[in-house]
Amino acid sequence: MPRYAKKGCTRADIIEKMLDQLKADGGYDEDMDETDSEQVIQQWLYNCVAYSDMNPQIEKDLSKLEFDWENSEEDFESQKYGKLPDGTSIIWCFAGGDWEFPIHFAVYIDDKDHLRAYMPLDGNVYCPKCKCAYGSCEDEEHEPEEEPTPDWEKMYAAACKRIETR
Ligand SMILES: [Zn+2]
Repeated sequence: MPRYAKKGCTRADIIEKMLDQLKADGGYDEDMDETDSEQVIQQWLYNCVAYSDMNPQIEKDLSKLEFDWENSEEDFESQKYGKLPDGTSIIWCFAGGDWEFPIHFAVYIDDKDHLRAYMPLDGNVYCPKCKCAYGSCEDEEHEPEEEPTPDWEKMYAAACKRIETR
């Protein structure tokens, strides 16, 4: 089944929705600079996704792999891969514990106006045997010898293929 993003939705639209949730949830930090998208995204990931039941659909979206939320924020590659082919925006984030190599996923607004996440397996860094972030494997033998890095071209291609807009 394809996923649908709301056609034409911008990065600012996604961040505004995150702010709305932060204000509704009570996780809103008065000292936060609302114009600083990095802060808004990080606060939202912590207060509205990782340690909240506000977004059960996103929990489902991200349930393919096990990982910890200790370090979660927007990825600096986000801007480069932040638009689907028709210009609709997505925001790339990562999450992982200090002992893990982070998992990547894209946040977007769906056609029903809800925040959603898409976690591509293609190009992502994770253990295919344990379905978890490297660092949390059942067997240390699984861990790669060299530091793994995500394949952005593959992750982006997967997102473009899977997320349609309407
Ligand atoms: Zn493993």
